[in-house]
Amino acid sequence: MDSSPFLRLRGVVKSFGTFTALDRIDLDINEGEFFTIVGPSGSGKSTLIRLLVGMDDLTSGEIRLRDKRIDDTPANLRPTCMVFQSLALFPHMTVGQNIEFPLKLRKEAPDRRKARALELLDLLRLPQSYYDKRISQCSGGEKQRVALARALAFDPEILFFDEPLSALDYRLRKTLEKELKDLHARTGKTFVYITHSLEEAMVMSDRIAIMKEGRIEQISEADEIYGAPVSRFVAEFMGEVNLFGVTAGGDGTVTSDVLTVRPGATLAKAPSGARGLLMVRPEYVRFADDGAGFDFSLTGTLHGEYALGSRIQYEIETAAGMVTVEKLREDRRAVAEGEQLTVGFNAANTHFIDEAA
Ligand code: ADP
Ligand code: MG
Repeated sequence: MDSSPFLRLRGVVKSFGTFTALDRIDLDINEGEFFTIVGPSGSGKSTLIRLLVGMDDLTSGEIRLRDKRIDDTPANLRPTCMVFQSLALFPHMTVGQNIEFPLKLRKEAPDRRKARALELLDLLRLPQSYYDKRISQCSGGEKQRVALARALAFDPEILFFDEPLSALDYRLRKTLEKELKDLHARTGKTFVYITHSLEEAMVMSDRIAIMKEGRIEQISEADEIYGAPVSRFVAEFMGEVNLFGVTAGGDGTVTSDVLTVRPGATLAKAPSGARGLLMVRPEYVRFADDGAGFDFSLTGTLHGEYALGSRIQYEIETAAGMVTVEKLREDRRAVAEGEQLTVGFNAANTHFIDEAA
């Protein structure tokens, strides 16, 4: 890896009195990447971003941009910009005046400001006629796009986003998630994005950091966070999951009190920890009557069936607790409550978490 990454945090601590909101954060963010920080409410996400944009001071540690320390640089002198959940647009002004605001601060000539604002309307896929429209006449999604255009008018090196979509309704949120990802690709800027939504993080990000109680629990690409979480916390935070207590043999074999293990079944990556959790996501668990043989199986009683739009979830009560099975709606299986069922999964679709049950 590059010896001096774009944005580097080392040992960043933020305390409020005796409470440690951020505890020795080390983080490297690459130039041009879409980096997302996820975590439950109160885990320190907003505190971290406030330090990065310069809205608050560090207790200790350092932040470097291109190897130059910026933690003492005032917010208005940092090449960064923030997009908030509450958009802070000027409601009595037009769309054009809002977008041009940063350019006016920089004393750019009016014709150049307007040309840039029209370019940004194009980039955000808003009609040029919106230039003269009042903010108060824009819909929620349009306001969000104007706020993004204004943020881009600052021409920041890094754009920070603190849960910008969380107040919007589901459909608009889904649309804007994809638009933000496209906007990132079109601008080539570094995006640092905060959310508590796993889905939002998965759709947009190159890499994801998971925060828990002021610490970073894992930093990985989205697929790896989902498929190979380092802890129970990350596994459960990143969606529905089944976890089984197992004992690893060291040679890829595992034994379990709750799972029937097919003789000869081995994990591709032999775990070193003796006791641990075998993880399988619900979409990889199958009913035994699908005809397949399984490396791992168990039997239980059907507890419930839940329609989730395009997918169906089944909950099966077993000796290992509730097991979740997920199928596409088109593969829906007729089940009766209380029905005895055997379900199973294969080693290739599992991940071993080195953490006692
Ligand atoms: P998140 O954005 O992940 O929901 P925050 O970064 O807002 O979490 O807050 C992290 C923790 O720090 C919370 O426990 C919060 O109460 C605390 N905190 C944040 N700002 C302050 C402050 N100015 N004074 C005291 N405690 C604060
Ligand atoms: Mg927050």
